[in-house]
Amino acid sequence: MSKRKAKPLFEETVRFTDRSRMEATDRCRRLRYWGHEYLRRGLVPKGLEIDIVRGQMGHSGLEKLLQGKGTKQAIEAARKVAVDYKVPKKTAEWLLELVTGMLWGLSIELPRFLRKYKILETEREERRELEPGLIFLARSDAILQNGGTDSKVLLSAKFIRAWDDRKADEHLVDTQGLSEAWAAEERLGGLIQKIQMLYVCCGKPKVLDVDIGVEEEVFVSPWWIGWQNAHGVWAHSQRWKSWDTGGWKALNSDWRPRRVAKHFEGGIETWVKKLYDKAIQVDAVNPLEAMIKIPEPIRRTAEEVEAWRVQAIARERSLPAPSDILLGAEELDKHFWQSRRSCIWPGKCPMYALCHGNSEYAAGELQLTPVGSGLFQWRVPNHPEE
Ligand code: SF4
Repeated sequence: MSKRKAKPLFEETVRFTDRSRMEATDRCRRLRYWGHEYLRRGLVPKGLEIDIVRGQMGHSGLEKLLQGKGTKQAIEAARKVAVDYKVPKKTAEWLLELVTGMLWGLSIELPRFLRKYKILETEREERRELEPGLIFLARSDAILQNGGTDSKVLLSAKFIRAWDDRKADEHLVDTQGLSEAWAAEERLGGLIQKIQMLYVCCGKPKVLDVDIGVEEEVFVSPWWIGWQNAHGVWAHSQRWKSWDTGGWKALNSDWRPRRVAKHFEGGIETWVKKLYDKAIQVDAVNPLEAMIKIPEPIRRTAEEVEAWRVQAIARERSLPAPSDILLGAEELDKHFWQSRRSCIWPGKCPMYALCHGNSEYAAGELQLTPVGSGLFQWRVPNHPEE
């Protein structure tokens, strides 16, 4: 008896999906529409998406480090990302100093952590069919093999602003460890037993007088900013807990924030190494140890991964087929309903003006020509195949 071919989920065309589409859908279906489905391209707010650029720079550098290519090549890869994104010169300069600090830190931390692993592959694009017509795209940072065993571990890095208790709880239930594991498993044959998360923090954004030539928020962190007094003495933290007495201390107003790359002898490489050697601000702990977090690996069961797959298909099935046609208000309301609770929480939604208007445009006006308004631009695909 001939085997009947499964009916494609989407008759006319394939649908691509990935983790960011799924997360957008879970936050608000209208966000999924504006960000990924609108004319099959999706929109992003106009301007530099600095968190995305910083993350891409970090990932490109990390890939080189995992491949054993050395820190200088890693920094060059990060610089190339800033060029590709056409980051304005002054911003690109400080952003690269920040990422350079992170990469020197990773070049110290990674060899310790990777000692027990063999790196099988890095930054591999995965393309797997969830169902006929529905393709899941993913990219893991690395697949590792544990010691002399067959046990495989998926390494997933995130370049975040800061680590806190919420992040610590969040990482235990992060879907990245399920979706990327599922995508890699069939190709490798067998279950990926553990997910190893790696978090690199860049600091919180703030306008700080560090002579960057423009007034804009920078990610304030000891990767690239130190404090110096009139006697030329350096410190890495404005406020710190003494490891000796346990009490809190703070620098007085004689200290000024300074860019390490410009003013510290030996530049960022020497600075980061000295911090790891605890040679600066000797009564404080090395602040960089808190900027790279490598929690215990998470174990995933085959049942959890399978549950993710079933839910992923159900989520995509609940959406209309991909279309070049602009959806009218009625279809939008039927298929891409609004979760208004998410408009301003946990931060203002990037599509807020499209749904609610702004001081210049009513929402309806903006929806007619979001790109033409100058407030939005087309999304750059996350994966080459999209
Ligand atoms: S502004 Fe609100 S309703 Fe509109 S996409 Fe964002 S979260 Fe959804």
